[in-house]
Amino acid sequence: MREQRIDRRRFIGFLGAGATSLALSGCVSQKDSRAQRKAPPNFVVIFTDDQGYNDLGCFGSPNIETPRIDRMAAEGCKFTSFYVAASVCSPSRAALLTGRYPLRAGIPGVLFPNATTGLDSGEITIAEILKQRNYATACIGKWHLGHLPEFLPTRHGFDYYYGIPYSNDMKMNKEAKRHQVPLMRNEEVVEFPAVQSTLTERYTQEAIRFIEANKDRPFFVYLPHTMPHVPLHVSAHFANKSDAGLYGDVIECIDWSTGEILDAIDRLGLDDNTLVIFTSDNGPWLVKGDHAGLATPLRDGKFSTYEGGFRIPCVMRWPGRIPPATVCSEIATTMDLLPTFAQLAGVPVPKDRIIDGKDIWPLMSGTPGAQSPYEAFHYYAGKELRAVRSGKWKMVFGNETKHEGKVPEALYNLDADIGEQNNVIDDHPEIAEKLRQLASKMRQDLGDKLRGIEGRNRRKPVQREMR
Ligand code: MG
Repeated sequence: MREQRIDRRRFIGFLGAGATSLALSGCVSQKDSRAQRKAPPNFVVIFTDDQGYNDLGCFGSPNIETPRIDRMAAEGCKFTSFYVAASVCSPSRAALLTGRYPLRAGIPGVLFPNATTGLDSGEITIAEILKQRNYATACIGKWHLGHLPEFLPTRHGFDYYYGIPYSNDMKMNKEAKRHQVPLMRNEEVVEFPAVQSTLTERYTQEAIRFIEANKDRPFFVYLPHTMPHVPLHVSAHFANKSDAGLYGDVIECIDWSTGEILDAIDRLGLDDNTLVIFTSDNGPWLVKGDHAGLATPLRDGKFSTYEGGFRIPCVMRWPGRIPPATVCSEIATTMDLLPTFAQLAGVPVPKDRIIDGKDIWPLMSGTPGAQSPYEAFHYYAGKELRAVRSGKWKMVFGNETKHEGKVPEALYNLDADIGEQNNVIDDHPEIAEKLRQLASKMRQDLGDKLRGIEGRNRRKPVQREMR
């Protein structure tokens, strides 16, 4: 079915003010109605940059100490098959915030400071969804979905923005040196170049300040850390502490930050009504050597469509709602946050567009027998469909690719071979054919540049005048 487009203002108007209760009454179940009578839950999403699958104690790191995030896992659920929808920054962020594959949201690749594009105003973000229930919303950290004013967080449902508009290895203009990026508050540059060594601590202070100021109303804090994207920076307080060198120092600082935020939530008495999620935007940038993390035991890292690029560490905590010390190995993705948050907040998801994410509350809450809602998860690199996973099976299509070279067509059993080393395609031709068919269906939907297929339901990037 071709995706229909409507003006976002119509969607907001439909749900806004007096229409809200009417709209909700017709769209939600009895269970959801009960949830609405309670105060809507708070959401905190801590989203690191280029942190690998292995780079937490609770995910197996031998030398990075993350006691606070490990404790989060002990008090909540660890997701071991959790995916981003791209193995690079901008499209991964677009997918998280819109609940849609990056191609559908119009951000297939990384945006640079000379870009005249960004997340289109017609896209609906988690922040905009939650504004329908009067949430206070903040984006604190690296945005990377367009730095021109019309693309900034403040134009996408966030009441408050503090952070850098793109990656910390970029530069603001021709005169600037590489790695010189602006620090912004709302739509103003407040520091240039941003002092990167204290960014993590300042983001933490800003997040806590925002939570404290909004403790009496529902809030959504999206905290996309600048680190551990290179160049790595850490303050003197955290320098030379980790056995894993500077990279370890940076992660251990983020662990401290996470603990500070959890402590603030506890101190304010909000523990039992706040869902906190910790995850990463893509796998480790392995060519950066000891300034990169590890995705062990997964294959490859950032840029790749092997598991190391797309599968990321994820921990979710909500005392009383998410059972402690649980592990979920079902397929789930960052795209699921939008529909899941919407359901928990008692707000319907937009009906005028395809939302790829699913409500994964049954997985999060440990419902017995809960299974992944995905028949298939698709691995896109830009506009190219490179692989598909269904259940334990992953099919990698034979392509000549920029970052991976010539990749043979292969079938992997991820339950038995998480490192994607043993191609079993000759042993399971019927499984391979099933996955080919799932991919073919997706190509008709979103396209595949490698095969010259345009796809029906992808958003064209919006060009803006350069100013
Ligand atoms: Mg990244």
